[in-house]
Amino acid sequence: MKDYSEYAELLANVEKPGRYVGGEYASEIPDPAKAGLRVCFCFPDTYEIGMSNLGVKILADCFNKTGFAVCERSYMPWPDMCEQLEKHGVPLYALESGDPLRDFDVAAFTLQYELSYTNVLQMLSLGGIPLTTAERAEGDPVVIAGGPCAYNPEPLADFIDIFSIGEGEESLVELAEYLYECKKKGVSRAETLYGASKLPGFYVPSLYKAEYNADGTLASFAPLREGVPATVVKRVITDLDKVSFPRECAVPFLETVHDRVMLEVFRGCLRGCRFCQAGMIYRPYREKSPETLNADAKAAIAHSGYSEIALTSLSISDYSRLPRLIDDLLEWTDGKMVNLSLPSMRIDSFYEELLKKVSSVRKSGLTFAPEAGTQRLRDVINKNITEEEILLACERSFDGGRTSLKLYFMNGLPTETDDDIKGIAMLAQKIVDLYYSKKRQGGGRGVNVTVSVSCFVPKPFTPFQWVKQDTIEELERKQQLLKECIRTNKISYKYHDARVSRVEAVFARGDRKLCKALALAHERGMKLDGWDEFFDYDEWMRVFAESGVDPAFYANREFGRDELLPWDFIDIGVTKRFMKDEYARAMNGETTPDCRTECSGCGAAKLGGARCVCRERSGGNA
Ligand code: SF4
Repeated sequence: MKDYSEYAELLANVEKPGRYVGGEYASEIPDPAKAGLRVCFCFPDTYEIGMSNLGVKILADCFNKTGFAVCERSYMPWPDMCEQLEKHGVPLYALESGDPLRDFDVAAFTLQYELSYTNVLQMLSLGGIPLTTAERAEGDPVVIAGGPCAYNPEPLADFIDIFSIGEGEESLVELAEYLYECKKKGVSRAETLYGASKLPGFYVPSLYKAEYNADGTLASFAPLREGVPATVVKRVITDLDKVSFPRECAVPFLETVHDRVMLEVFRGCLRGCRFCQAGMIYRPYREKSPETLNADAKAAIAHSGYSEIALTSLSISDYSRLPRLIDDLLEWTDGKMVNLSLPSMRIDSFYEELLKKVSSVRKSGLTFAPEAGTQRLRDVINKNITEEEILLACERSFDGGRTSLKLYFMNGLPTETDDDIKGIAMLAQKIVDLYYSKKRQGGGRGVNVTVSVSCFVPKPFTPFQWVKQDTIEELERKQQLLKECIRTNKISYKYHDARVSRVEAVFARGDRKLCKALALAHERGMKLDGWDEFFDYDEWMRVFAESGVDPAFYANREFGRDELLPWDFIDIGVTKRFMKDEYARAMNGETTPDCRTECSGCGAAKLGGARCVCRERSGGNA
């Protein structure tokens, strides 16, 4: 473990030194000096967020279990620490050994959010790693990146050596084995990257060429060397019960965003909301067994001493064995005063009994996501839920003694009109009226309905990937309209900054031309754009203008249905044909059933022999 006394002066001048010293309970790793391959997992946001990310824990654990790779951690420093590092000429280091990022064989980033891209550049440069693939020399770390934003890797094409597409538990171990072999044999950097491009699930951007039409759209996208695949197929785990779960993670001393054990119950989603990228890229739907989950939870609680287990997955009430899982968990968590918490649930599969059971441990406010205020628009986005179901769920919740509800909506959705916006206020008002329509237990406190509204961002690999985002003016007008429609203080209204969503849309649908803008943003010292206090829209507009990027081209343009899209070379299983059909159905107001009701043949079941629900139904012949 690093002796941090030499950093005493830096640490004395930062707000939260605990972010930068490691040494947490159970953070020991095998001796880095004896590692065959040294990996630093770099989280491009603060320690508190990074330490709450389950994916990072899973993948770091996979590296450490190889027996030859040792994985350390580094997080995006807060500006006070960036300043101290620069002032004292100390490179950004990994928490376990205190060694600079540049000393590692691999620097691995996870891309959770487009507005963390400037943090990636900042961490590279603070860590002493040349910013671009082109500038890196023999001996520099191989910079890899994965996560949801890697499904459109192009805005970061200049900066990342290898992208990991899809689930990494198996593929990253294969990559680590390959890189370790290359290191032992002294294979050159260029040949190492070339070989990596042929491994399934990896994309090496420097080995592809993008050409553009005069109007800025993509004309062609092709490999530069023979043997480099034209299409990169995402990796999926076939059997989730067989992948390793990190039962002994470091327990932070600082308060983090999620101080609890997180149990990933399944991957994928049965639904098919047309705006939702996660619902498409994580297909096919695969569950873990209650036995595996229960054993993992028990071991993780015993190790960490946490007093809460959160069940995490996209739409938790779709888990086919949820009542059994909850019963198994409550059998031992009740006695240990360990809480169970459930994420936002779909209202239509509201398990009253289940919630009562969970409430016996902890009573928390409930969150639902109707997403749109009218049935017409809910049908367009394929949120298969009716107003009656929403009201029934709220009624049950109130009858159960809850007085607080949070409802998530979006504005700017395709085909949205002012009536849809007004519909949000009307629905929230109906819920308030419903509460007061009966004498309720605990009624003295009254009800509070929070309406939280985000702005629609068109995302790659969704049926709405071609749709333009509303302009800022239009989004802000709609936000104001909704504000005017809310007439009671029983409804709290929160909405997102439309300007943030616009920059997010630019990078979500961006291409390689955005690398120039990112490099310039970094040069200007821009970072932590996901934090309100640092996001500077006007500066972003200046950066775009100076780098020849028109943000409207990416955010506010309807993409052609036959246009070559920057992410078309990635195969997520779900076909473009399916997404086009889904878009057409949306425009006709037609809904598509969930996967358990009927398979719509999206294409995801073909991947890696994964057992999608349709395969299970048809005995594996779908
Ligand atoms: S293959 Fe069928 S069941 Fe599987 S995710 Fe696609 S639509 Fe759903």
